[in-house]
Amino acid sequence: MAQPYFCGKCKFETGEPMGTCPQCGRTLSKTSTIRLLGWALVLPGGLLAAGMTVLTVNVARMMGNAGDPGAGSRFTGDAGEAAVILAVLGSVIALSLSFVAAGAWQIIFGRRNKLIIVAVLALAAVVYLLGRAVTSMN
Ligand SMILES: [Zn+2]
Repeated sequence: MAQPYFCGKCKFETGEPMGTCPQCGRTLSKTSTIRLLGWALVLPGGLLAAGMTVLTVNVARMMGNAGDPGAGSRFTGDAGEAAVILAVLGSVIALSLSFVAAGAWQIIFGRRNKLIIVAVLALAAVVYLLGRAVTSMN
């Protein structure tokens, strides 16, 4: 059973509200705080993933119908640009799902997961780079 207070640096755990870690001096974290922060990742991450999925489906449908008579959409890019736009939307979905994964881990285990945080940062970098590619198109 995990203790309610722990050190995120050296993994020291205690049931006492000590404030700082007796081994390395770092401020101790509270398992309940980490769980609360987990919900702050899961809820917006889940909403964003759902919203972006709906948006991606609509955008893909719109681009697919762009050439049809009476489609009414104004997508004038070529297939390559369409692929980049879908890649951006897909990577944003992946990013929001990684928020959900990071938050769920914190809620379940009461700890942060460094690997998931690294994955979140890597995905954020991908979204940023793809977003720059899109904005430089026009
Ligand atoms: Zn420590």
